[in-house]
Amino acid sequence: MKKKIGLLYGGKSAEHKVSMQTALAVIKALDTDKFDIHPIYITETGEWIKGNQLTGPVETVKELEFKRQDGHSATVLSPDLFQTNDSPLDVIFPLLHGPNGEDGTVQGLLELLNLPYVGNGVLASSAGMDKVVMKNIFEVAGLNQVKYTSFIRSEWQGAKEAAYAKVEENLGYPCFVKPANLGSSVGISKCTSRSELDAAFEEAFQFDRKIIVEEGVIAREIEVGVLGNDYPEVTVAGEILPKTDFYDYKAKYEDGNTGLVIPAEVSEQEYAAIKEDAIKAFKALDCSGLVRADFFLTSAGEVYINEVNTMPGFTPFSMFPLLWKHTDVEYAALIEKLVDLALERHQEKQ
Ligand code: ADP
Ligand code: MG
Ligand code: MG
Repeated sequence: MKKKIGLLYGGKSAEHKVSMQTALAVIKALDTDKFDIHPIYITETGEWIKGNQLTGPVETVKELEFKRQDGHSATVLSPDLFQTNDSPLDVIFPLLHGPNGEDGTVQGLLELLNLPYVGNGVLASSAGMDKVVMKNIFEVAGLNQVKYTSFIRSEWQGAKEAAYAKVEENLGYPCFVKPANLGSSVGISKCTSRSELDAAFEEAFQFDRKIIVEEGVIAREIEVGVLGNDYPEVTVAGEILPKTDFYDYKAKYEDGNTGLVIPAEVSEQEYAAIKEDAIKAFKALDCSGLVRADFFLTSAGEVYINEVNTMPGFTPFSMFPLLWKHTDVEYAALIEKLVDLALERHQEKQ
């Protein structure tokens, strides 16, 4: 029996365009002998539009950007989005990144509808989106990470000098200031002085009411992919070679010339430590399906976990699928594995 898969893509976030590219690639990769494809598009203004079942090949992103007047059923957020001919879709694949996609909100909606969905559940998604909560959990799990501290906007507004003094005393320069709940390097600054720190706080608080400040490390950036539910498997290591000072938004999405090296040149010992910590992080956040675990590796061989991304970049040219490709799981097979893991997890909950 063919599976009816719902692809949820687009979204009201900085990653809208990336999500569109991902949807196109996933559609092209899905085996139509095994899947009926049902697109669900979230516009940049946050409207949810159910497309008709795809019956032929799709070549461009434009074809996936439905408008209400195209005759697609125009539904505000309702269970009908996830049904066809009055029966629910078999599995939903949320191809969304960042807030309102990767942070547990969409996952919560799908839980309430009792639908199987690809990837992490509510808890792992929301804990993984908040860098402070994530790091607190990693701390308890005994993972090695850089020193950090956090601030709430109102607390900072009343005592800016005290906040900066605390950063200087506990972390020093350089340090990184980040909104707690974002991704794609949005709102992140590297600071080397009090005046930069002040500007960085102003900037980060534009995006969130909570920020995190971290000690800056000079290190290589090494990433691994993790796939599974109770028995997660880990890919070979990959390395990011940003051409800018750090891996900022522009380097990620605009320049397109950031080097990815797979497999990364790391010693057996370093890889073993990274792999062990990736699994520890996956279990600490109670992840399921997939994550990309990102590390800093110093020249002295010290491994620090930076973060996990519960819905990592997923175009065929993104790190996560490329890591699996080098670990002998091609893009189409990766998607099928994720669907199987989603169904397995749903089954276990019943
Ligand atoms: P995002 O979730 O937006 O990807 P990250 O925490 O991964 O946020 O930060 C983005 C980038 O900023 C990293 O890939 C790295 O290049 C740089 N960076 C972040 N934190 C640090 C740090 N503590 N030390 C050195 N570089 C950092
Ligand atoms: Mg991230
Ligand atoms: Mg990152």
